[in-house]
Amino acid sequence: MSLIFSKMQKHIDGFKSLTANKNVLDVNDVAQVFIPLANGMSTAVELKVNVGDRVKVGSLIGHRNDFFYVPIFSSVSGTVVAIEKRTHGAGQIDHVVVENDFKFEQAELDTINYETASREELVEFVKNKGIVGCGGAGFPTYVKYQKPEGINKVIINAVECEPFITADYKEIEDNVRYLMTGVLAMQKMAEAKEVVIAIKTGKKLVTDIMNKALPNASVSVVEVPDAYPMGWERTLIRHLEKKEYENIPSEIGLIVNNSTTAISLGMAMETGMPIVNKFVTVSGDALKDPVNVNVLVGTPVSKLLEITKLNRDEVVLINGGPMMGNSMETDEFVITPNTNAITVMAEVVTEAISCLRCGSCSDHCPAGLQPVRIMEAYKSQDWDEVRKLRADKCIECGLCSYVCPSKIEVSNQVILAKRTIASLDKNRR
Ligand code: SF4
Ligand code: SF4
Repeated sequence: MSLIFSKMQKHIDGFKSLTANKNVLDVNDVAQVFIPLANGMSTAVELKVNVGDRVKVGSLIGHRNDFFYVPIFSSVSGTVVAIEKRTHGAGQIDHVVVENDFKFEQAELDTINYETASREELVEFVKNKGIVGCGGAGFPTYVKYQKPEGINKVIINAVECEPFITADYKEIEDNVRYLMTGVLAMQKMAEAKEVVIAIKTGKKLVTDIMNKALPNASVSVVEVPDAYPMGWERTLIRHLEKKEYENIPSEIGLIVNNSTTAISLGMAMETGMPIVNKFVTVSGDALKDPVNVNVLVGTPVSKLLEITKLNRDEVVLINGGPMMGNSMETDEFVITPNTNAITVMAEVVTEAISCLRCGSCSDHCPAGLQPVRIMEAYKSQDWDEVRKLRADKCIECGLCSYVCPSKIEVSNQVILAKRTIASLDKNRR
């Protein structure tokens, strides 16, 4: 049974036991990797290789060239054999196809010591290693640390609040040393007095591992309630700091980064290696053998489904967790540096009934929105009302649909409303 903790969040069933106690499976036997020329949803990427070029693990393949610089690297050694369009969250986009020679030769890779490097050198290192937020959108990490003025605390988000996902905790279990190296570098880049690592209550093994590895008294571990979406940074800050902010946490002296991002940074600092492989949870009720994999960036999801196998024909394939992920129409899309989960659920067709005006969706929306009113405004194409109701603030958490007793897909309607006004307003400019 689910327990309501307070408005704007909810305990939901985790289904974490499907993968939590299994060993992580290494998956690096792919004949070809397909490296997307994208960072998050941005496809403004300058290509740096040609068909026929030899590359190594960690070789530069291209870089984002719009507002941000984000390099993109090869995850294998071998030969570039094609540049082809494939499905990605951002649409049909170019991917660099590298034929794996299975030698895993490494490019020349520089390392850095957070104690001897200056703050500016660390930020530059983070930028050049292409470290991005590993918890979802893939936002470039160095951007958060460019201006440390007024920052007093870094919060490391190890909450992992979405159902089914256990990859973040597996990463911490295996790589706590890298986590602490990354944490100390983040503290130095932010010039912050304090670092707090937030973890969900009841995760004794991982909490003990982190507490034992704490480097000094300025870094601590705090437990937060097992509620969704506690891992969303606004909810987490509301809980830990009892504060609100308008746009970004730095307005109130905070920087938030995911624990896997800190691990990726620590690993890059000690080994020189950018994010070329990821721990990914492949789980869901439509899989015979859910598992966490340590997989090369650029591996097609179809390869992972061959391992986990489906237990039925009609499924919903989700890039991410079941609440915030995006459903995909094909399994040809690939693992990227910010993938943390692939979820495969049984397709359930539920008959929605009329809205009961119960207000539950509004009570639970962590962004403080009124989803039912946005849905109605969307249906009547009242775009001014959609704007007034701030559909743009929806974080696409899915909680309004989850709590709706009428089984209405409220979040889908709100997300469509959000996208419609974004596109109308873009065309107006
Ligand atoms: S999906 Fe959007 S509208 Fe629905 S609860 Fe989450 S933030 Fe609120
Ligand atoms: S939760 Fe569902 S039934 Fe209740 S007000 Fe929202 S849309 Fe209507």
